[in-house]
Amino acid sequence: MTSQAARDRLVQRLSQKGISNPAVLQAIANTPRHLFVDEALASRAYEDSALPIGLGQTISQPFIVAYMTELLLNGQARLDKVLEVGTGSGYQAAVLAMLCDRVFSLERIEALLRVARRRFHQMGMHNIFTRYTDGQQGWPAQAPFDGIILTAACPVIPAGLLNQLAEGARLIAPLNASGIKAMGLSSPFLNQLGMGGQYLVSYTRRQDEFSPEILDAVSFVPLLDGLS
Ligand code: SAH
Repeated sequence: MTSQAARDRLVQRLSQKGISNPAVLQAIANTPRHLFVDEALASRAYEDSALPIGLGQTISQPFIVAYMTELLLNGQARLDKVLEVGTGSGYQAAVLAMLCDRVFSLERIEALLRVARRRFHQMGMHNIFTRYTDGQQGWPAQAPFDGIILTAACPVIPAGLLNQLAEGARLIAPLNASGIKAMGLSSPFLNQLGMGGQYLVSYTRRQDEFSPEILDAVSFVPLLDGLS
């Protein structure tokens, strides 16, 4: 249930669902997702579904992790520095750590971050750097980043984060439908799903311009202010 064969079957499913960057599929094949959930849920770790990780939070569905990672890589096999907002279980950071030289990950719930840090340490992942903080400010001392990923749904994209993107780099985030309007974007999906939905968006930096793209409807826990 938690074997390499189970991971390989998951990778096959993700590839059938349209994930095509071989480096991303390899990273999913090499990341033991069962070690990022409670033991009681380990047998379900290679199903393509989100699972609870406690404190009202979830580890994202593997397809979404793979999809967001593929968007972040934007056709490349590796990136140098990336920033993640919302460490949670640490799974997304661990996948990124196989594809990036350094991963910087921010989390506002101390109890989750403590567990994630222990996992990184036990797995010998020494290229993940974390901070207990409200991630909306990003990590200015480490900027610019070659990619920024938010794993909680934002009301609007924090402007400070966009400014921490390197030239040509992308920010990938779930954005509330109301935020799509607030940021002046338009989408043909909006009428279909109404104002309660969330959409995955990407912003690519070209000098001081950020070009937005609205991708798919998604479902994430909310980005919250302050510490817990
Ligand atoms: N990437 C995670 C997904 C966790 S769910 C994983 O692979 O498991 C989203 C996470 O974002 C939660 O842990 C939540 O506490 C965190 N979060 C929400 N708002 C945040 C904020 N302002 N700053 C940092 N983390 C935040």
